[in-house]
Amino acid sequence: MCKNNYKMDLSKRNLLKYSGGIAALSIVGSIPSITYAASLSKEERDGMTPDDVVNSLLEGNKRFISNKTLNHDYRAQKLSSQHGQFPSAVILSCIDSRAPAEIILDSGIGELFNSRVAGNISNDDILGSMEFACAAAGAKVVFVMGHTKCGAVKGAIANVELGNLTGLLDKIKPAIKKTTFVGNRTAENYDFVDAVAKTNVQLVIDDIRKNSPTLRKLENEGRIKIVGAMYDISNGKVSLI
Ligand SMILES: [Zn+2]
Repeated sequence: MCKNNYKMDLSKRNLLKYSGGIAALSIVGSIPSITYAASLSKEERDGMTPDDVVNSLLEGNKRFISNKTLNHDYRAQKLSSQHGQFPSAVILSCIDSRAPAEIILDSGIGELFNSRVAGNISNDDILGSMEFACAAAGAKVVFVMGHTKCGAVKGAIANVELGNLTGLLDKIKPAIKKTTFVGNRTAENYDFVDAVAKTNVQLVIDDIRKNSPTLRKLENEGRIKIVGAMYDISNGKVSLI
């Protein structure tokens, strides 16, 4: 019964893994857990639509929130992915230590590309990385994930100047101006900081579409989706925006 309930909760990707015989159900106490002994395969990844991939990321986050994460067999995943990788998505997220994408999306080795930079900003090198992920390596989703209480966004609002960080924060500043917010527009007001972080995600997505003809073409052809999200570091929830 537990097995069936679990199967119903699993995404299409996980169902594929499950039915493929490479996942094993084990019982720890009264809590069923699933151990994955391999990374996402090419067949599994290619069988997913961009919407399937987005759903699988959100389902992983639900498992993280409910503390029912999968038992990732990292050693087995390392071995199974050593000759090839077939990640389903490329994540663009902040360096914040409280927002580790693979963990909060309950993913394993060889399953997600992850580009991390303070304030999840975009630049030519990051666009190149995302183009590799999607156009060369077959990822189906670009997932731009900001987060609440972001120090980089806070720093941009406070006009922090510090070496090379100054130029990075300049890339966030258009989001400050563009954010409609009634109330205290300062770095001390986290409601405002979070509103700017959300706007920043939207502007980064605009930038990706504008400055990457490669990704724009893939999106227009329906082969990938470019999606924005916010991670709430208080309750652990990833919400699409
Ligand atoms: Zn941050």
